[in-house]
Amino acid sequence: SKPSYKWQRVLLKVSGEALAGDHTQNIDPKITMAIAREVASVTRLGIEVAIVVGGGNIFRGASAAGNSGLDRSSADYIGMLATVMNAIFLQATMESIGIPTRVQTAFRMSEVAEPYIRRRAVRHLEKGRVVIFAAGTGNPFFTTDTAAALRCAEILLFQESNQHPIVESVNAEVVLKATNVDGVYDDNPRRNPNARLLHTLTYQEVTSKDLSVMDMTAITLCQENNIPVVVFNLNQPGNIAKAIQGERVGTLIGG
Ligand code: UDP
Repeated sequence: SKPSYKWQRVLLKVSGEALAGDHTQNIDPKITMAIAREVASVTRLGIEVAIVVGGGNIFRGASAAGNSGLDRSSADYIGMLATVMNAIFLQATMESIGIPTRVQTAFRMSEVAEPYIRRRAVRHLEKGRVVIFAAGTGNPFFTTDTAAALRCAEILLFQESNQHPIVESVNAEVVLKATNVDGVYDDNPRRNPNARLLHTLTYQEVTSKDLSVMDMTAITLCQENNIPVVVFNLNQPGNIAKAIQGERVGTLIGG
């Protein structure tokens, strides 16, 4: 029998901005708890969940660079460290409600988290653990959206096809981008009240119309690897669980 959900393994991207909510602190614990609860509800169904966290609530390299002689690479390393703080906070929240969770960092911080090891990450997922990928790609000049696309491509189920007979018509992998907006609009909804939410988009439309969904590197990586992207609002209760279960939320970007 076919499972009712569409995805078997998902990569959830949570931006730093989304973690902050409207809180004055960097991380709103109500938001991390809401994420943890919804992720718990889907891991119970057997869907495997990996998470990439952003760091924009704490530090953004590109905007900080240049101040007081701070070079871009150093600024970006600080930004990557910021994502580790978010990852540890999210891990602690998830484990407080009983979800086994591992953090893997793109550069070594062995006292705090595991180093990123692809095969070990996949093994954790197979065992039903949530894996949080921190420190982005480990390289300056990239973003955590690109890290999400990269890690998603690395843990695609079809690469492990011997162990994972994939049920036909089940798409096993997707980047789910949790944001503070309902999806992608044809214009800026803050400025134009008539801006329409677009329910589906091709990669081509995203890049040619310069819709600010993800940076170019991230969207191109998804396109080259046929990874669909769903952009949705995480502030709508139930949306994370819906997105992970393959229900229609926000905007779906694909071939
Ligand atoms: N960053 C980086 N390389 C990466 C991922 C992130 O240098 O592969 C740095 C970059 O400075 C970025 C910061 O980490 O501004 C926080 O990540 P991002 O802005 O992607 O977070 P989000 O917008 O999702 O909160």
